[in-house]
Order: sequence, then C-alpha cells, then structure tokens
Amino acid sequence: MKYRILGKTGLKVSVIGFGGIPIQRVSEQAAVQIVERALDLGINFFDTARGYTDSEAKLGSVLKGRRTEAIIATKSMARTKEAMAADIKKSLAELGVDYIDLYQLHNVKDENALNQALAPDGALAALQEAKKEGLIRHIGITGHIKDFLVKALKTSDLLETVQFPFNAVEDAESRELLEMARKVNAGVIAMKPLAGGALKNAGPALRFILEHPAAIAIPGMDTVEQVESNARIGDNPEPLTGLERELLNKEVVGLGTAFCRRCEYCQPCPEGVEIPMVFLLDGYFTRYNLQNWARQRYGELKVKASSCVECGQCEEKCPYELPIRKMLAEAAARLDKQ
Ligand code: SF4
Ligand code: SF4
Repeated sequence: MKYRILGKTGLKVSVIGFGGIPIQRVSEQAAVQIVERALDLGINFFDTARGYTDSEAKLGSVLKGRRTEAIIATKSMARTKEAMAADIKKSLAELGVDYIDLYQLHNVKDENALNQALAPDGALAALQEAKKEGLIRHIGITGHIKDFLVKALKTSDLLETVQFPFNAVEDAESRELLEMARKVNAGVIAMKPLAGGALKNAGPALRFILEHPAAIAIPGMDTVEQVESNARIGDNPEPLTGLERELLNKEVVGLGTAFCRRCEYCQPCPEGVEIPMVFLLDGYFTRYNLQNWARQRYGELKVKASSCVECGQCEEKCPYELPIRKMLAEAAARLDKQ
C-alpha cells in the first residue's frame, strides 16, 4: 500500500481509505472480517460518521484493538458547540477509543451552516476544545458544494482537511477546490470516488483520483473481495495509460447528463423539496443497495418528493438540464414504498 501525507494534519494515510457507509448493511461478524482484512492489507484510514447508524460501532469493534495501526475519521452534522461536544463523546463511545484522529464538520452546505459552526458557540469551538483535551487530533470539513467549500477553506485556517465528491465525472468542477486545498495545504479526501457507483471500473476510476498528488480516495467497502481489489489498486496506483483514460472518458460521457451533481443550484424549491437530498438517497437505494437505510432517511425528510407541484422552476436553474420532475417522481416511487 502506498501512503501520503494528508495535508497539514501530517498524518501518513493510505492512498486508499475505507469509506464507512456500506458497512452498515453487513452483519457485525462480517464487518469484523472486512475491517481486519483492510488493516492487514495496509489500509489505515477509516472514515465514518455519527449519521451512519452502526458504522462507528462496527469499525470501532476492530479498530479499538488495533488502535496504533488505524487513523480514524468521523463527522457530525452538529452545528452548535453543545451538540458537537455531545457528538464527539458519542463517537468516542461508539468507536470504543479514547481519541479520534480527524473529526469533521459534516455536510456544510451553506452560509448559514458555516456561520453557525464557526460562531463562538458553534461546533468548531467544541472541536477546538476537544483537540486541546486530546479527544480529537485534527479538524476537517465535508460537503458536496464545491464553490462553498472553497469559501469555507478561505474563511477558517483551522480546517485541516476537506472531503468532497471527487471523481472522473466531477473532475472539472473540482479543480478550483483542489487548487484552494493546495494553497492552504488542506488534506483532500475524495468521497464517492466511483461517482456514487456510476463508474463501474474501479481500477481506472481510483487511479484517476490518485493522479492528483494530494488526494486519497475512500471507496465504500462491504466485502473482503472489494477490500482486496481496492488495496491492490493502492499498492500500485500508476497513472492511467492513454487507452485507460480514453475508456474512462467514454464511460463518463456515457453517463450522460442525467446525473445529479448535488450543486444545489436548483434550490430552494418553493414547495420545500430538498431535490439533491432526494437524489442522493435515491442513489443509495439504486446504486449502493442500501434500500432500507435510504427509505428510512427519506422517511425523515420533512417534505417528500411527492410534494412537487411540477412548477418547473428547478429545471430552469439546473446547469445539467436534468429532467428533475421526472426523476423526482421515479425516486418517490422507489423511496415512498414501505
Ligand atoms: S418542479 Fe417540483 S421540485 Fe422543482 S421547484 Fe417546482 S415544486 Fe419544486
Ligand atoms: S438537480 Fe441539478 S441543480 Fe439540483 S443539485 Fe442536482 S445537478 Fe444541481
């Protein structure tokens, strides 16, 4: 396995990290085998979240016993100091460890959320205190809206890493953020390296990301076989050959434009439909085989896709010209079922 320094954290992390979403759907026993195998093969970076149901507990069940081999990253949607302090404690308890290497502000997507998190009584203050107390070692941010993350990195030099969807499909729109991360020496963690499962050929897709010298990729894994094949890519992340690049480009082009990039330009919907969130959950349903979890999360949304009155305003604003109304109706048909 090859390793890289994760920006100003100074952490030496495997170029292939472990994305902790899919492990939710396997048994505790299977999770143990998967995580043990990942460590054995040199994967040392594990990313989970407070919001991923039992993912912290499943990863922690192995990592706590092999603590010195693992770099643990988790994250919370808390925006206030009090709520973040409580979540840090919960993460430590779920993981069963006495410190966490990287704690991230999860899915910061607008000015309001960032201002709240950075306020004196905001989540960042709790992260700073936890860092002083040795409960966490480093602080990062995650999100899907790249323009906004550029702004976040400009605003606070306390953010040591940035995690966002970076893959062959979302290449052009990632460049400004990659450049900003380079400027401020923030570690780059590429989530959704296979574009939410849309890219089928993992080898070239992951090596494409690793051509960027500061990035690591964190594909989600839920089988020992996936761990082994991803680890092999991390052993030898050669740049793509001309032919591989051509094939990957063809695959990207083949995905067409019917693919939500979660840029949020379509928001707000006058009826309150959280369009990108619906498509994100639908992606978990259709591509990640997380049907129950996706339906449960969808069930928690205040406004369902079925509230769409087909005004069409969102489609006028979508830079990818997605047929949002049709896509919402299809997503609702899948996610609304019990
Ligand atoms: S078409 Fe539907 S989802 Fe789009 S803005 Fe109108 S009500 Fe909202
Ligand atoms: S539907 Fe279009 S505008 Fe809305 S988040 Fe997705 S890609 Fe962006």
